[in-house]
Amino acid sequence: MAPGKGPMARGNRQPGKVSLKVKAIASISLLILAVGGILSWYFLGQTKEVFTDELQKRALSLTRNLAHNSKYGVLTEDEVILRELIHGILQEEGVLYVLIADAAGKELAQGFKEIGAPAATKQAVARAREHASALAGQVTASSIHYHVVGTQEVYHTAAPVETAVTTPSRTEEQLGAAMLLLGKEPEPEPTAARGARRGSVQIIMSLGTMQATIRRTLVTGVGLTLAIILLGVLISFVFVGYILSPLRAMARAASQIAAGDLSQRVEVTTRDEIGLLAMTFNEMTSSLEQNEGALRRKVAETATLYEIGQEITAQVALKPALKLIVERAQGLLEAESCLLSLRQEDTGTFGIQAYSGTVPEALARVQVRPGEGLTGRVIATATPMMVNDYAKEYRDSPFLAAVQEAGIRSVVAVPLNARGAVIGVLAVTSRVPNKFNEEDRQLLSALADQAAIAIENAKLYEQVRQYAEELEAKVKARTQELQEANLRLEVASRHKSQFLANMSHELRTPLNAILGYTELILDSIYGAVPEKIRDVMVRVDKSGRHLLGLINDVLDLSKIEAGQLTVAPADYSLKDIIQTVVTAVEALAAEKKLALKVSIAPDLPRGRGDERRITQVLLNLVGNAIKFTEAGGVHIEVSLADGAFLVSVADTGPGIAPADQEKIFEEFHQVDSSSTRPKGGTGLGLAIAKRIIEIHGGRIWVESELGKGSTFRFTLPVRVEHQAGAA
Ligand code: ADP
Repeated sequence: MAPGKGPMARGNRQPGKVSLKVKAIASISLLILAVGGILSWYFLGQTKEVFTDELQKRALSLTRNLAHNSKYGVLTEDEVILRELIHGILQEEGVLYVLIADAAGKELAQGFKEIGAPAATKQAVARAREHASALAGQVTASSIHYHVVGTQEVYHTAAPVETAVTTPSRTEEQLGAAMLLLGKEPEPEPTAARGARRGSVQIIMSLGTMQATIRRTLVTGVGLTLAIILLGVLISFVFVGYILSPLRAMARAASQIAAGDLSQRVEVTTRDEIGLLAMTFNEMTSSLEQNEGALRRKVAETATLYEIGQEITAQVALKPALKLIVERAQGLLEAESCLLSLRQEDTGTFGIQAYSGTVPEALARVQVRPGEGLTGRVIATATPMMVNDYAKEYRDSPFLAAVQEAGIRSVVAVPLNARGAVIGVLAVTSRVPNKFNEEDRQLLSALADQAAIAIENAKLYEQVRQYAEELEAKVKARTQELQEANLRLEVASRHKSQFLANMSHELRTPLNAILGYTELILDSIYGAVPEKIRDVMVRVDKSGRHLLGLINDVLDLSKIEAGQLTVAPADYSLKDIIQTVVTAVEALAAEKKLALKVSIAPDLPRGRGDERRITQVLLNLVGNAIKFTEAGGVHIEVSLADGAFLVSVADTGPGIAPADQEKIFEEFHQVDSSSTRPKGGTGLGLAIAKRIIEIHGGRIWVESELGKGSTFRFTLPVRVEHQAGAA
């Protein structure tokens, strides 16, 4: 990818509008401009001063020379000579006007030269002449003045023409010139000492040429400054580019790195600070790349380890779990073989229980005691160990021969820890010396931790499975025994029911005969019965009927148990049934002075069901109520609700404790079951009644409170065609 063309480069963040390059160039240019400007201004000032100085010196020197040379001409007032001299002076550059006068200031000779346009010169010359004429009579010493004549700036110099002149020494001359430059007139010397003043010369010199020169110099200076600035900008441009291009490259590379491309490097072109920066940048990137690589490897390893852990712990049986552990460990560490030894509970030694790769028989069979060889050391110290060359490091191991036979050189062995003890050792091996490193050791240790858990779980599972098997066998045996016992019981029960049915039947026949004959005797069929015998006969009849009742109950029970209690459906009138029951018990109630009350809802429909059985139920309930009640009365109530008869028999008897209310419906259950109980009975009546109501599809229950009487209630579907829950 071309630098700067990648997606990150396109999306480069712009910290500001003005780039570093522009800023650097602008500041360097400003600096150059300032320095160049100040320097030019200074040099121009200097140049101007030098020029001015030179010009003044030249003007004075020309004037003095002329004064000296014109001595003779002035003395003789020879105009020709003077003109000749003036002509000579006018040849000098910048000389505009020359005047030579006598001591009284009278003009002896004059001359001028055209500088610039003729009109301007004329005006300038006129003005110059005025100045010169005004000064002509008073020139006693050399002087220099500045004027503006017309459009021109001029230096106006004057010098006296003297005879028998004592020429001033060179230093005096220079002093005079310097003082003039400072704008001071040099002290005039006494006339006697300097000689007699004969006249004066004056020169007016245009500054135009000098100014043109200064202007030229200025232009050249400005041009040069500009050229320097331009050069400076150009150099700074190149220099900044030179500095910034590696920085830019670094920024680009950093963007690419941020986007995930860690292979980016910056070219190191120099050995200066920038080069150092680039080098450091490259080092940083490589270290980043290395770290990321390491991180990726670690993540991949952790993921693999996790997967392996899941796989191993999913194994519930020990053998397959061990096999899986060695295979995965060998694969994970790219080893040639892997061995897993576990503690032998009986001997206390460690033996190889599983291995992968090729392992010679001799090695697979070794039994290791703690402290012996590599495995023994791992067991004894409970710490992982790494061997780079077994033959060198374990020269005195008892297993050296077996290990050498297997060609093993490098080994990593880690303990399998469970419940605070070493239960085994997991080792991977290679034929290459120095094959494993610290990372491998850590990896195998992590795997061993998972493996130890898996092994413990598998062992526990094995135990549980064994217990379960034992338990199952026991349950099977017990079930078998129980089934046999049940079978025997069933047979016994059948025999009992059969016996009871037979017995009842066998008892009923003679009893009926006894009752029949008793009745015949009481009816005096066999002649008049004496009062004493009649009394006995009445008792025989009563006891016989009671016995018949008992036998009938037992017969019903055996029928229930044999599932032979059935409904013989027919239409009936519940009102008639109640009437029959009342008729049967009236005498008993009267005997105990109990009120017997009956409430029957009007318009009761005719019912369909087993009339005889329903009568039996009601007789039992009303009979019990009378039997257990000593005072008060019994109330029979019949109503209709939800397509069923609701019958209740309430008494004012002793009541039944809540704990007994369910039980009294079971066979042979009596609240007072002592042999000395005042009331007779078998405890079968309610059980039979419950069964009869249930096969009619109804329900029977009691509501009672001790000391407050009891109310037995049952529901009875109005029309019952088939018995419910036929069994
Ligand atoms: P039996 O009356 O032959 O003992 P039952 O099955 O008819 O057998 O009654 C079982 C028991 O229920 C009785 O022994 C008695 O303890 C109790 N029981 C039945 N009806 C009443 C009642 N109306 N008041 C008090 N207790 C009763």
